[in-house]
Amino acid sequence: MYDEGYIKYQCHWQNQPSVNEEEIVELNQWRNQLHQLGLIGEYDNGIGFGNLSVRVTQSQNLIISGTQTGGIAELTAQHYTKVTDFNWHKNYVTCEGLIKASSETLTHAAIYVAQPQISAVVHVHHADLWRKLINHVPTTNPNCAYGTPEMAEEIIRLCQQKATQLQKIIVMSGHEEGILTFGKSLSEAGNVLLNFFGVQDF
Ligand SMILES: [Zn+2]
Repeated sequence: MYDEGYIKYQCHWQNQPSVNEEEIVELNQWRNQLHQLGLIGEYDNGIGFGNLSVRVTQSQNLIISGTQTGGIAELTAQHYTKVTDFNWHKNYVTCEGLIKASSETLTHAAIYVAQPQISAVVHVHHADLWRKLINHVPTTNPNCAYGTPEMAEEIIRLCQQKATQLQKIIVMSGHEEGILTFGKSLSEAGNVLLNFFGVQDF
């Protein structure tokens, strides 16, 4: 079955309110649209997929959707968490909120570290789009599994390539159906994805 949905890093979780509704307005609009399109959701076995994040302005913090929220149609602030520290060499994430961060947090973090101009990352699953794009756009090494330090290193490597910086998309070949897009803004990250998916800009 899918190697998906569980946290592989050490999670230093401060279980306390941290994210407020104003901080997630745009994030949640995109998230709910992607859920409606089936790009974020839940497999028949109950494992959720898809997550998104933004960089918090003028800080190193990220806001990311929480683990196992893929199946929920409409999220609220309690389904997001603030990532205040991470290190993929040591394989840990520190987060603050009412839910633990997405299992793919270190993958998002790698994109932000590698590309300081990027402020938003979207990760979705879609079998047909994944098959169509694999090895036609920047694609990770098939030996790298999701949510691992190896995947973060692989993302860093790809982000140093011009094609990745221009196309703003990465297909995760070792993570079936997994696709990442990113941008200077959430709407850029989202629209890169929708353009590949064949939907007009929101
Ligand atoms: Zn995934």
